[in-house]
Amino acid sequence: MREEAWVESLRRRFPFSRGLGIGDDAAVLAPDSRRESLVLTTDMLVEGVHFRKGDLTPAQLALKSLAVNLSDLAAMGARPLFYTLALALPADYMGLCLEEFYDGLEQGNRRWGVELAGGDLSAGSILTISITAVGEAARPVLRSGSRVGDLLAVCGRLGWSKLGLHDLLNGQRKGPFAEAHISVEPLLAQGQTLGPLASAMMDLSDGLLKDLGRLCSASGLDAEIDAAALPLDRVLSDRCRTLGWSPLETVLVGGEDYALLFTAGVQEMAKIKTLVLEPDISVIGRMVPGGGQVRVFENGRERVVEVECYDHFAVHGAGD
Ligand SMILES: [Mg+2]
Repeated sequence: MREEAWVESLRRRFPFSRGLGIGDDAAVLAPDSRRESLVLTTDMLVEGVHFRKGDLTPAQLALKSLAVNLSDLAAMGARPLFYTLALALPADYMGLCLEEFYDGLEQGNRRWGVELAGGDLSAGSILTISITAVGEAARPVLRSGSRVGDLLAVCGRLGWSKLGLHDLLNGQRKGPFAEAHISVEPLLAQGQTLGPLASAMMDLSDGLLKDLGRLCSASGLDAEIDAAALPLDRVLSDRCRTLGWSPLETVLVGGEDYALLFTAGVQEMAKIKTLVLEPDISVIGRMVPGGGQVRVFENGRERVVEVECYDHFAVHGAGD
């Protein structure tokens, strides 16, 4: 299909209700009487760094690419509006794979109530997917708003995606852990419910300890985690023990969990627990004076965690 025909087919398939979408030099967002803040985020998935092409179908890859961007909007307490997509495609991804990729995007648009506003497509040596997503929020929740005495909580599961990545790297594409790694569900409704009540929030992409360190630094506080309060169910613990992994460390360093990490005052946390019923909310610790450190306590004693959190650069030697 020629490029013009391809763009025209996308224009018809992805109508844009907020102005001018696909087809001109740029998308146009119609003026409106906006009273809320616009929230923007970009996330890029690169073959060989973030995924292996054979592990996900094109539709799964499209859904995951969109989901990780929407997870960042959820983490701001924002409602998603629309996104742009830039794709670099190796020759073997042209044609049928590309069709299936856009099928996945269409599914994601319906499921998460978001629209494709435009983008770009190029030949490339490796598959690269870059999405810029835009949402709106009356009061975007930052990482920096935490206060001394706030409770620290997680909404969602931890460690499952790390186990799923291990399974995929060992050729196992089925099962609940691989599923958790492949099929990311952005916690959009939960993020919007938490928005007015949380003092600080972020989504967990690089592992609890590492991401919490970022929230602590932004808020100028330390965090204390109670190991016994972490969400550690039997299925995860059993699987960890089979592999000789520590369940506690698996949950602490995780990676690609896309759970929401947030802090809130005691009263706000009680209200949150009545409003957000699913997935589980685990209150895992509290914020204390300090300057960006995270400490984990097990049976009243500090536990030193030596396993490293996920680091795209360190893992793949692409930088420092
Ligand atoms: Mg994030």
